[in-house]
Order: sequence, then structure tokens, then C-alpha cells
Amino acid sequence: MSLATLCQRCALCCDGNLFATVPLHAGEVDAVRRRGLVVLERDAGAALAQPCAALQAQRCTIYDDRPGPCRSYECMLYAALAADEVGLDDALAVVAEARTRLGAVAAALPGDGPPLARARVAAREGHLSPETHALVVRAGEFLERRFRGHTRR
Ligand code: SF4
Ligand code: SF4
Repeated sequence: MSLATLCQRCALCCDGNLFATVPLHAGEVDAVRRRGLVVLERDAGAALAQPCAALQAQRCTIYDDRPGPCRSYECMLYAALAADEVGLDDALAVVAEARTRLGAVAAALPGDGPPLARARVAAREGHLSPETHALVVRAGEFLERRFRGHTRR
């Protein structure tokens, strides 16, 4: 139950903050398309675009039929909670800290889409200030340290 609570209050691995895409197995592509979700064709294979259109109010609306890579993904925070290395309140505090850091980037870069993706565009276009860059690094390092990994998407 606490694992579900954590993910329902987090959703960072579905809302575009951790991943730009989720790779799909070849046999999953048609089913994902039938659900009206955006599938990107890449050299490395088909992938589900993020933020995921199946995510509504922090919940996966196709949870029982979600693609295999979604099913198998566990971030480091999830794994730590599952192993009782951290309690739910502390895990939720980590999510809140991540949201605070991402929110600081978003406030500095108004617009649509995940804040770190906005920052990549701003950097490419040459208008990422040193102050905002520092916020991006602060948020990115926190996500890397506390969320990414354990299993890979
Ligand atoms: S990033 Fe981790 S804690 Fe957050 S929803 Fe995904 S698996 Fe759950
Ligand atoms: S299908 Fe569900 S679990 Fe997979 S990325 Fe979308 S919202 Fe997340």
C-alpha cells in the first residue's frame, strides 16, 4: 500500500521529468496506439512519448495494461521503500524536495512541458542564464541521486 501511495504522489517517471520516452516492446506498439497514446518511431525502436497521456491526476489510467517497461521500472526511491530502508513519510519528503527543485526551474523558465526539458531547449537556444543553469544542475543531480536507476527504462 505504501508503495502505491508513493507512486500516486510522485509520478515523476511518467510525467516527463525523469524520462523523455519509455521504450516499447514490438508487440506492445499497436495496443498502445489503440489507446490513443503517442508512439515515437526511433532508430532504437518504438517508444511511448512522455509526459504520458495515460497519466491523469497522478494515476496511470491503463495501469492493468501498462507496457512492460512501465511494469518493470522501479526507481531507487521505490526500491528503498520496498526494502524498508526508508519510511513512507521520508520517501514522500524526497518527492516533495524533487518537486521543489523542479518548481524552481519551472519558475525561472515559464512555458509548457517538463522543466528540465525546457531548460535543454533554453540551453540549445543560448538563453539559459547562469542562475537558472545552477537551478537545473541542482534539480538534475537530485533526480539522478534519488530516483533514476535501480532498474532502467
Ligand atoms: S519515480 Fe519512483 S516513486 Fe516516482 S512514480 Fe516512478 S517508481 Fe514511483
Ligand atoms: S503507461 Fe502508465 S505507467 Fe507507463 S508511462 Fe504512462 S502513465 Fe506511466
